[in-house]
Amino acid sequence: MDATALRTIMSASQGNATAPRVLVVEDEPDIAALIAYQLTREGFRVETASNGDQALTALGRELPDLLVLDRMLPGISGDEILRSIRSEGATQALPVLVLTAKREQEDRIRGLELGADDYLTKPFSPRELVLRVQSILRRSEPASGDPRAKLLRAGPLVLDAGSHQARLNGDELNLTPTEFRLLQALLERRGRTQSRRQLLERAWDVEAEVADRIQTRTVDMHIRRLRGKLGEVGDWVETVRGFGYRLKIPDGV
Ligand code: CA
Repeated sequence: MDATALRTIMSASQGNATAPRVLVVEDEPDIAALIAYQLTREGFRVETASNGDQALTALGRELPDLLVLDRMLPGISGDEILRSIRSEGATQALPVLVLTAKREQEDRIRGLELGADDYLTKPFSPRELVLRVQSILRRSEPASGDPRAKLLRAGPLVLDAGSHQARLNGDELNLTPTEFRLLQALLERRGRTQSRRQLLERAWDVEAEVADRIQTRTVDMHIRRLRGKLGEVGDWVETVRGFGYRLKIPDGV
């Protein structure tokens, strides 16, 4: 696809003002164009950046609903961008899908440790990319129905699935969509042990074909980050060796 064709897609994709916005950070023009084409076809508004400086400028201008971030970029690397996003209040909870050309387990884990919501290894099918993006965005959608039924409380911890906010001692917790859904799954079944597989199904809300390709190790990475953000109540998230996790709320809370 040439630059003109890409520009045509880009301008067409700005049409629907209510469509979710996706910022694609990818230095390889063919891949950027392919991703932009697929997402636009699915109704997303797409903006592209080919390096870290452009990406940070675009993020400063207007926060997208989701970021697709290539790890291997010239100049500022994808990992550095992710680290900076996760350390800034305004972007801390921004949903991020990381693209990686590396197949090594180590690199995938690194991306998840830095706080990506999900990752895709190149080469990936455009269909899979769209499924992953939709899945991450579903996780960040407020729940529908009776708002009172969506309020989960445990001592100083209050989670409002209606407004998609979590508070600890009244202070809002800056959780990514994945961390929020994970905490929700733990709170809804407090005291009960849930396997990594169950947590994947409940918190990730992915279609079966995608769930099969997400590694259960992913759950561990997000649990670790969630515990860190929960501060004093992080210890309530217990590891049940060889099985999974449970939220154990101390007596008297
Ligand atoms: Ca690249």
